[in-house]
Amino acid sequence: MRIDLHTHSVASDGTERPAEVIASAVAAGLDVVALTDHDSTRGWDEAAQAAAALGIALVRGAELSCRLHGRSVHLLAYLHDPQTPELLAEAEQVRTARVDRARRIVGLLARDMPLTWDDVLAQTGDEATVGRPHIADALVARGHVPDRSAAFDELLATGSPYWVPHYAPDAAQAIRLVLAAGGVPVLAHPGAVLRDAPVSDAEIDALVDAGLAGLEVDHRDNDEAQRARLRAAARRHHLLETGSSDYHGTGKPNRLGENLTSAEVLAEIASRGRLEVLR
Ligand code: AMP
Ligand code: FE
Ligand code: FE
Ligand code: ZN
Repeated sequence: MRIDLHTHSVASDGTERPAEVIASAVAAGLDVVALTDHDSTRGWDEAAQAAAALGIALVRGAELSCRLHGRSVHLLAYLHDPQTPELLAEAEQVRTARVDRARRIVGLLARDMPLTWDDVLAQTGDEATVGRPHIADALVARGHVPDRSAAFDELLATGSPYWVPHYAPDAAQAIRLVLAAGGVPVLAHPGAVLRDAPVSDAEIDALVDAGLAGLEVDHRDNDEAQRARLRAAARRHHLLETGSSDYHGTGKPNRLGENLTSAEVLAEIASRGRLEVLR
């Protein structure tokens, strides 16, 4: 079984439509794929139709933006009821804050280079969760940088002079909301050294107390030392260990199926989630 539990479509900051992500998952030889757009479930219906038509199992999920001791962390939620009012309200508040924050980033960049908010809108689909990747695409279109990754290397890097944070719920609070919505909360890329500081063992302990169910151990942004630390933490707390690609279409080098999750872990997620895996 080839199971990849973390992908993005144009419903957040991926470059493919939800149906295209599903088709790409089939072409990559996956048996099961999860669609986990940032702060949104707008891609679920299209993905579900495509998955049924193409004969691949679909795990409906999302990747929620959170804050943890002042920095940004991501929480994967699987098989939750997206209409649960508290969780829906948080996601919508984050999406609104993201637009405001993106406009501020563009305002800062525009002092130093030709760039307008319309440039960003031209790169942003109707259903997108606006983020730095769309600003990156606008910078590429203007010829300021060759690709998204180059934009993130300096101009859009966390802590750059053009960087602005946005509102997001505290990670422990987000975990409680996901659980209340019947979902399975898994901390995304907790050992990502290229982003902010990795999530520490003490922080993981506190999130487990809030109800965290799993850690995304096998992800390209967790180096080998981080993966070993995360595996030890997962064993200590009996957490689920997942592996995923974090596919963004052509927006990132991450390839579908480059990291995988075991059938045993998927079965556990399926048994705990309020929604079913669509097969
Ligand atoms: P934001 O959500 O606006 O803070 O932007 C973070 C998003 O940018 C992440 O979800 C990634 O998808 C994307 N991202 C981060 N680093 C890179 C990179 N080096 N190249 C392409 N996309 C990136
Ligand atoms: Fe992303
Ligand atoms: Fe993420
Ligand atoms: Zn992601």
